[in-house]
Amino acid sequence: MTVATHDVALDALTDDQFRAHAKAWLAEHVVGDYASLKGRGGPGDEEIGFDIRVAWEQELGRAGWIGLGWPQSHGGRGASVSQQIIWAEEYTRAQAPARVNHMGENLLAPTLIEYGTHEQCERFLPGILDGTVRWCQGYSEPDAGSDLANVKTRAVQDGDEWVINGQKVWTSLAHVSHWCFAVVRTEAGSVKHKGLSFLLVPMDQPGVETRIIRQITGSGEFNETFFTDARTSLDMIIGAPGEGWRVAMGLLGFERGISTLAQQVGFERELATIVDIARGNGRADDPIVRQRLARAHTGLQLMRWNALRSMGSGVPGPEASIGKLFWANWHRDLGELVIDLQGAAGLAHDEPELTLEQKLFLFTRSDTIYGGSNEIQRNVLGERVLGLPKEPQP
Ligand SMILES: Cc1cc2nc3c(=O)[nH]c(=O)nc-3n(C[C@H](O)[C@H](O)[C@H](O)COP(=O)(O)OP(=O)(O)OC[C@H]3O[C@@H](n4cnc5c(N)ncnc54)[C@H](O)[C@@H]3O)c2cc1C
Repeated sequence: MTVATHDVALDALTDDQFRAHAKAWLAEHVVGDYASLKGRGGPGDEEIGFDIRVAWEQELGRAGWIGLGWPQSHGGRGASVSQQIIWAEEYTRAQAPARVNHMGENLLAPTLIEYGTHEQCERFLPGILDGTVRWCQGYSEPDAGSDLANVKTRAVQDGDEWVINGQKVWTSLAHVSHWCFAVVRTEAGSVKHKGLSFLLVPMDQPGVETRIIRQITGSGEFNETFFTDARTSLDMIIGAPGEGWRVAMGLLGFERGISTLAQQVGFERELATIVDIARGNGRADDPIVRQRLARAHTGLQLMRWNALRSMGSGVPGPEASIGKLFWANWHRDLGELVIDLQGAAGLAHDEPELTLEQKLFLFTRSDTIYGGSNEIQRNVLGERVLGLPKEPQP
């Protein structure tokens, strides 16, 4: 039986019915080439089966699984929050291929819907919905990471175009993206948050060069991105010139929320694999190992309750930093545990590639850096949640 999707009116389904519907579609479609990618393509493993994952993205698009929570007026399906959580959970449980356009679907699209014009939505949302146009995020620069307001890449108006010069860095998947949303300085002489704008820049042009940065995991997920007289048309700006900070921060608000719960289903699976390894090699009898496994299990439950609590409170506030700080450290510790459990064997590998456990260990070192480092989360919590005095500014 083929499970129809677009024609299913989601608001007519109970959560249980929706879960059965999502499960059935995934069971029917995660087969063949797609099933060969089960458990693959995640962090540190992004180069695996990229073409298959692009085809999968389009498969999802045809069936209406992209933009599930977007309003129907923008081509989405208006799914409720609980339906979106269920979809994310079932997706992770089915070990469906890792997605290739998280930035487009979950970051840029809601930003366009919130801050963009009708024309911009009409132009860009369909390519995200059908899985054909991929996006990357051009925020960080060599001197602007935690201090994003120090952006130096500049854009000046030339006739009916913006001309962009500067460098971005750590641009995830820029080398396989069609467009970049970038924070750039459009007012000469401006400093800090003022004078920034949020531009949409096509990647396929002579003025844009991406250079892959090979990571410790062996994969090249992110890039240095150079803009040398790169161009984009004048209307490729979200918000007014000088309003870039507001739009950029609005986008970051969309980074949290539902995807956190899906991420935890992935964590649950990783922990289950680790428990199997410990049982298989007899280490599960070691009281210290048992204690570390129990602590990991407890941490996972805490994360779930905290994510549900912050979602229930509506707009994610500074307390979202609790979640980021907690999961990043938890995951990094899990990476250490899986290597410890394997003893010396955990450090060696026969294949040219690292094992998935080794990739987990190495990639999780970056969890405490991206999306706001541990130190930045602690500053946010100290100043904005606990009300402590602000850190001294130079
Ligand atoms: C895997 C990965 C993917 C990424 N993908 C993207 C992407 O797609 N697009 C993009 O734009 N960026 C991306 N980034 C960049 C990421 O956002 C930055 O790495 C992050 O914001 C930290 O900035 P930084 O690396 O410049 O470090 P810095 O800001 O230079 O920080 C260096 C150290 O100083 C500490 N520090 C800085 N300021 C303070 C302070 N005020 N108080 C206390 N300590 C402080 C930091 O915690 C850190 O330990 C990615 C990073 C990683 C690791």
